[in-house]
Amino acid sequence: MAFESLSDKLSAAFKKLRSKGKLTEQDIKEAMREVKMALLEADVSYKVVRDFVKSVSERAVGAEVMESLTPAQQVVKIVNDELCRLMGNENQRIRFASNPPTIMMMCGLQGAGKTTHAAKLAKYFMKQNHRPLLVACDVYRPAAIDQLKVVGSQVGAPVFEMGQGDPVKIAQAAIRHAKDYGNDIVIIDTAGRLHIDETLMDELKRIKAAVSPQEIMLVVDAMTGQDAVNVAESFHNALDIDSVLLTKLDGDTRGGAALSVLAVTGKPIKFVGMGEKLDEIEPFHPERMASRILG
Ligand code: GDP
Repeated sequence: MAFESLSDKLSAAFKKLRSKGKLTEQDIKEAMREVKMALLEADVSYKVVRDFVKSVSERAVGAEVMESLTPAQQVVKIVNDELCRLMGNENQRIRFASNPPTIMMMCGLQGAGKTTHAAKLAKYFMKQNHRPLLVACDVYRPAAIDQLKVVGSQVGAPVFEMGQGDPVKIAQAAIRHAKDYGNDIVIIDTAGRLHIDETLMDELKRIKAAVSPQEIMLVVDAMTGQDAVNVAESFHNALDIDSVLLTKLDGDTRGGAALSVLAVTGKPIKFVGMGEKLDEIEPFHPERMASRILG
């Protein structure tokens, strides 16, 4: 299960505190050392861990004793608050265009889950009475176009494709099509590569310039740990993304990506993918994630 090891290690650190009653600065210091190790082992990036532990320690040492909480509970509460803050405090939503269609551009490395999540998002929005159009701009692999058509038909969303043409022209034509047919959301599935390269970024930049998306959503595989965060940083530097969709949280991810993405890129996680089925998508709730981590 995701976060299992992190949860276990944090609860072990807090258990020791609970056995102490009144806490000294030394007790807190020791607990924070364990929290730090647990986060590093969960693949949270080093700088994020350092800042996190610093703010928790400062707050814990300076905390007024609250009557309703034991000192140990108070430390857990501070850790919880800081975990929420790290992940963005409240759930962030998609920005809809005041003049439809709202254009969403999905990017990411091959295998991250772009195509699957384009369809999941279409289904999610259809439940809210939107009329999304899926657009096949991953033109290099014919299988990718077919895959989008398959998942599109599974969720009952129309798929716009022009075969292996110029992705910029396809995106533009798709938007005209959406306006003609009353699709209020356009979800563009772009090409992925095994590695970040200039050709990939260049193509994404050209699509972005041509269609000015409201939401550039980076799809990142949570299972890839620190790499996920490096990928997010590179895409963000090249493309100025708006949000992250973190996939495969149903696997035994150690959690680092969920905890580092916002601090590293300044961009929030807006959705999480929790499985291969096309309804396994949820808006990201930092407070739920924090309580899941704290068990
Ligand atoms: P793309 O290359 O980025 O378009 O990735 P795909 O959408 O083709 O997904 C790659 C693989 O990951 C497929 O086998 C998907 O079924 C699987 N996958 C995608 N999202 C999830 C998820 O949230 N959880 C799990 N377990 N598998 C996923």
